[in-house]
Amino acid sequence: MTGIGIDIGGTNTKLLVADEKGNVVSVSRFPTEAEKGPEDFVKRLSSAVAKIKKENNVSPLAIGIGAAGDADPETGVLRYAPNLKWRNVPLTGPISEATGLPCVMENDANMAAWGAYVMELGRKPCNALVLTMGTGIGSGIIINGSLYHGATGTAGEAGHLTLEQGGRLCNCGRRGCLEAYCGSVGIMRRAAEAIPDQEAFIKKYNPGGIFDPYTLSKAYEAGDSAAIKLWHDTGRYLGEGLANLILLFNPHYVVLTGGVSKSRDKFLPAMKEVFKGQPISTPFEKLEIRASDNPELGSIGSALFGLEQL
Ligand SMILES: [Zn+2]
Repeated sequence: MTGIGIDIGGTNTKLLVADEKGNVVSVSRFPTEAEKGPEDFVKRLSSAVAKIKKENNVSPLAIGIGAAGDADPETGVLRYAPNLKWRNVPLTGPISEATGLPCVMENDANMAAWGAYVMELGRKPCNALVLTMGTGIGSGIIINGSLYHGATGTAGEAGHLTLEQGGRLCNCGRRGCLEAYCGSVGIMRRAAEAIPDQEAFIKKYNPGGIFDPYTLSKAYEAGDSAAIKLWHDTGRYLGEGLANLILLFNPHYVVLTGGVSKSRDKFLPAMKEVFKGQPISTPFEKLEIRASDNPELGSIGSALFGLEQL
């Protein structure tokens, strides 16, 4: 039994075929070319699906789409996708018609959460919060083994919880969001303020690299005091943001994923310090923090979620 997970990126669209256990059968890509419009996109997607079926000799049973943006899981309408510049585009209906396969769509962080729930937590009937830490911060909420959508499918926008009133400007246009501090862009904005000579910094800690969280991690490992403080602050901010969520719904697990989470050994100690200082202590003492470094977690989650809905 296989399903297709689709990730519609600003540049490329990725199609991943996985079996019901999350084992990856194939990964392929084609240029998204969003400017040609959704109708043209669906046609090309349908050809790509036909091609992978033939090339891999598989008969996928369902399609799951993880959309970066505001997706309506009930109607299959992509309400807003900033990276594609699409608004109110019906997607799952036309894709299902063109491919002959049932199709579901969720926000990409929700799909990553489903992937983490199956792959990392073994589908235990539990409550979990999955945080995707990349350029921005997304999250998906699992309650009693089901993906929680909220009233309009928007639930889980953890990156835009207000951490500091009137604080740093977030990409969403508001100020003080968690993402503005702990997404890679937010981290590097803080880093740019603390490290004026970035060229020298890169040369010293990651020659040939760029000014990014990886270089910041290398500097941390070399004992650079600015880098140590930056990762420590990242952990404090994340701890404060997550503490709100943990008090709100008391999850069994928090799972961290995404590029920034690869530096977790640098920021987890400060995050756990915040948890230790909580007066309502039981939810924090019982909480288990996990991480997934599977780079395909989101697409696998999409494929598995598509199959789940059959
Ligand atoms: Zn925001």
